[in-house]
Amino acid sequence: MSNLLSPALTSEDFLYFLWQFRYFRHIGLRTTQGERIRVVHPGFRNPDSGPDFTNARIVLGEVEWVGTVEAHIRASDWLVHRHQYDPAYDNVILHIVWENATLPIRRRDGSVIPTLCLSDYTDPSLLLRYRSLIDGTGLIPCAGRLSQVEPLRRMSMFDKVLFERLARKAAEAEAVYRSSDSDWEETAYRLMAQAFGFQINAEPFAQLTRLVPLKFLLKHRDQPFQMEALLFGTAGLLSGEPTDDYEITLLREYRFLAAKYRLTEKRLPGHLWKWSRLRPANFPTLRLAQFVALLAGRGSFFSLLMETDAPTLLRHLQAAPSAYWQTHYRFGPPSARVSSTLGETAARSLIINAVIPLLIAYSCQKGLPAYRDRAVALLEELPAEQNRITALWSALHVPLASAFDSQAALELYTSYCCPKKCLSCQIGLEMVK
Ligand code: SF4
Repeated sequence: MSNLLSPALTSEDFLYFLWQFRYFRHIGLRTTQGERIRVVHPGFRNPDSGPDFTNARIVLGEVEWVGTVEAHIRASDWLVHRHQYDPAYDNVILHIVWENATLPIRRRDGSVIPTLCLSDYTDPSLLLRYRSLIDGTGLIPCAGRLSQVEPLRRMSMFDKVLFERLARKAAEAEAVYRSSDSDWEETAYRLMAQAFGFQINAEPFAQLTRLVPLKFLLKHRDQPFQMEALLFGTAGLLSGEPTDDYEITLLREYRFLAAKYRLTEKRLPGHLWKWSRLRPANFPTLRLAQFVALLAGRGSFFSLLMETDAPTLLRHLQAAPSAYWQTHYRFGPPSARVSSTLGETAARSLIINAVIPLLIAYSCQKGLPAYRDRAVALLEELPAEQNRITALWSALHVPLASAFDSQAALELYTSYCCPKKCLSCQIGLEMVK
């Protein structure tokens, strides 16, 4: 039977929170079958499939049980989710619910699972505080109460999410490493190319580097024109009807090199590249020319990214492209004024999106914490990013002193605030408790 005095619950997150932190009345605690129950340990939240908590310890009557615990808003959800047929739920020792608690719930072998109706033992004001938090309107639901949270608590949450973000980025970089035959030079090249796509053209950049490995380009490291020919041609960015002499000579060179490296059949379709709503300075043609300028003349591209200090790295990332690209955004007539080198903000973004994941992935793979420390130091050295999401936090007077903070703010917003995972957030926990 539903507890009519309790406000409605719409997410199991609140049940997890109650159980994990034991925020319910323990005196007189009984299962819906009338048995006395004592919680020795709530167990550990299971992030994977299967019951919600593992290794829980409870005493029912006089007997201690160790096993898994499953939570549902309504007891009948057990049947809706068909757990009665699933062997993964054979070891459930307790079913915690908010409503409908008198419905008998059974394991596969027909035995009844003890049920605890938490709404009977929970202070309703706790649920009201939770509801007022997640029902908050606005992009950051807790915005109105954020100033009441201890700065230390907020900083601790920023640290946590930043390291979650770095771990995810490192895992993505490791996937690139594995697909690059475990070659760190090639990995650095692919990650940087993808970052040069600046999201909108990240995928064609990534595809291009899978077709043209770094070792081909390095054979021409002292002839940027040939590097451009290989990349522009394979990218499908040279038209069959060249617009000027430069494109004619690039096309001729590309045909020669494509035959040499057996790339003729591997050209990307030109339509993969996005142009619309891009400012000319972001056109993929100019970005590709800037990427060649970064690669040209290099010995180890990997060492450049791994070992160079931030100011020097920024300078390298802003290397001037070849003469043609000083006056062109794309093939055809020259433009009057061309911002041919990467801007400072774009160069910083390459460090954040390519160099940092590379450092962390390398640190994890080699077991060398110094590279992770270097990644963190770089983030602390770079200024905070300015974008729509960091503006939200700044408007709430959350200080964002460096890229470390802005990356954390971005992660907190996208991974916690948007999906309203406030009870997994240290800030939200402090507001609800
Ligand atoms: S996830 Fe945390 S920071 Fe975001 S709205 Fe909820 S409580 Fe606030």
